[in-house]
Amino acid sequence: MTKCTLSLALTLSLALPLISCVALTEPPFEIDRSYQAQGKNQRIHFIILHYTAEDDATSLEMLTTKNVSAHYLIPSTDDNKIYQLVPDHERAWHAGKGGFAGRSVLNDTSIGIEIVNEGIAQQYRGALKRDNLSYHPTEHYVAFQDIQVRKIAQLVQDLAEKYEIEPKNIIGHSDMAPSRKIDPGAKFPWERLYKEFGIGAWYDEADKQHFMNQQAFARQSIADIKQAFRDYGYAINDTDEWDKPSRNVIYAFQLHFRPDNLSAEMDLETYAILRALNKKYGD
Ligand SMILES: [Zn+2]
Repeated sequence: MTKCTLSLALTLSLALPLISCVALTEPPFEIDRSYQAQGKNQRIHFIILHYTAEDDATSLEMLTTKNVSAHYLIPSTDDNKIYQLVPDHERAWHAGKGGFAGRSVLNDTSIGIEIVNEGIAQQYRGALKRDNLSYHPTEHYVAFQDIQVRKIAQLVQDLAEKYEIEPKNIIGHSDMAPSRKIDPGAKFPWERLYKEFGIGAWYDEADKQHFMNQQAFARQSIADIKQAFRDYGYAINDTDEWDKPSRNVIYAFQLHFRPDNLSAEMDLETYAILRALNKKYGD
């Protein structure tokens, strides 16, 4: 048996009909799955959360017609819907340049979830320039709806269990691309998702209190603290100062773990939370 295809490109370029034929194997060979390898692991290591900064209709259109996509979309509508736009085993285009936990090219190894949320409220969109701010404060961000939080909880619980994803690898876009991205923003309920639904990573308060030690903090060099960020998973440069790219990492960390006080400065509490996380989730 042969399979014949008409090559349209060639036909157009040569202005001639061109038919190529290849022999098909018959009968087909069998794929035998009775032996299974031990040396393997999951392809998916991360779940990355985003906000779309657009309304439902525009989000759906952008994520289905342009060169940007996500596996799932959580709309803002008050119904029971979660949209799946890309199958889990295929690659969606949501992460872009960045890295986390020693990996780059996170589109290859993650599931992307977009949530319909304004992000920075309309009236604050131009605030950085207008008010000469380096970073958006907490109150510029728009809250997520309760029904969205419950949809996120169900979806992330399922995916984390199915693909055996480590708690600290459930991250925001800003965690992996701190100099480019601020989503899912300061109002994303990381603490609630952890405490109510067992999702993601969160520090123990007692550990944080243990590390709230001003003398110990004062003895840390910038290199030591940057290493602690690296130990947790953040990609941070090794300059000996808190330059803008380094402050972007501090801001991303605070968006996730101290969203009520976004200073983008290294301080005792930020340090204590980082150490508490490394104590709990370190290798
Ligand atoms: Zn994003």
